[in-house]
Amino acid sequence: MAPLVEITGLHKSFGKVEVLKGVDCEIERGEVVAVIGPSGSGKTTMLRCVNLLERPSAGRIEVDGRVLCEEQPDGKMKFAPKDAIREAREHVGMVFQRFNLFPHMTALHNITEAPMAVKGASKQDAESRAHELLESVGLGHKADAYPLQLSGGQQQRVAIARALAMDPTLMLFDEVTSSVDPELAGEILLVMKRLAEQGMTMLVVTHEMGFAAEVADRALFIDHGLVVEQGKAADLLGNPQHQRTRAFLRAVLDRAPMEESDEPVRSPEEIKSQTERELLLQQQKVERIAKEDGG
Ligand code: ADP
Ligand code: MG
Repeated sequence: MAPLVEITGLHKSFGKVEVLKGVDCEIERGEVVAVIGPSGSGKTTMLRCVNLLERPSAGRIEVDGRVLCEEQPDGKMKFAPKDAIREAREHVGMVFQRFNLFPHMTALHNITEAPMAVKGASKQDAESRAHELLESVGLGHKADAYPLQLSGGQQQRVAIARALAMDPTLMLFDEVTSSVDPELAGEILLVMKRLAEQGMTMLVVTHEMGFAAEVADRALFIDHGLVVEQGKAADLLGNPQHQRTRAFLRAVLDRAPMEESDEPVRSPEEIKSQTERELLLQQQKVERIAKEDGG
């Protein structure tokens, strides 16, 4: 059987900056592929290209037999028609770092919204499925809670349930644990692990190396927009072949004792303004995605 996802020669530039420089990646049905790499290496861009939230500059993407984009012999990109892209996206669930849920809707309503609006599910069917999904992520008792009444970890689990409500054939995860308190990451990872065990095909950008080694079948190390190394997850993480991969893994694993380093201490003001900048950037990104999704 053909792979579920086939990415060939994927390039993406923002203006003059080439962020992806020819990424190849195939994902078999039921496979879990972890994408690791330094910040700014193009992981998020790659993920967003898979459902054309970013339009590739060159290359070819096929998901579940649907060609989403393809380079023509004259070098121009040909994209699938808008309707086909929208249809394809319905089969791809995506969970981001944060701001996944509609803040003005309860957990239940967040989950029933798309099946009712997009798939024409009845309210009764959508709600009974939503209750099942909430149960499956350990939040059966939170159906009526609003996102702000939930912890970050609970919000992310509702976000996963919401994506699953569309019965996706592929799930994309982009650092879904990195903005929740560390002690809550485990509950999200457990849900993802169960999903993997149930046979879901997953492309997971993560810094959780323990999770990647345990759950992923394959891992890809991306640096500067190129796949430097890929292989069986346990091999790549346990015995990386490239110097860059080794350096990256060392940096990630060394994070814990960093308190003892002589890194300059930042003032609370500096930290606050950086956090606010990051929040603003994230928010703008989410708004852009929402706009693109609507159009
Ligand atoms: P990662 O997820 O690996 O941290 P990203 O894919 O988010 O990396 O970003 C890769 C590079 O592309 C970064 O240098 C980032 O600043 C740039 N980039 C991402 N999105 C945009 C955009 N919409 N416009 C311009 N540059 C972007
Ligand atoms: Mg990213």
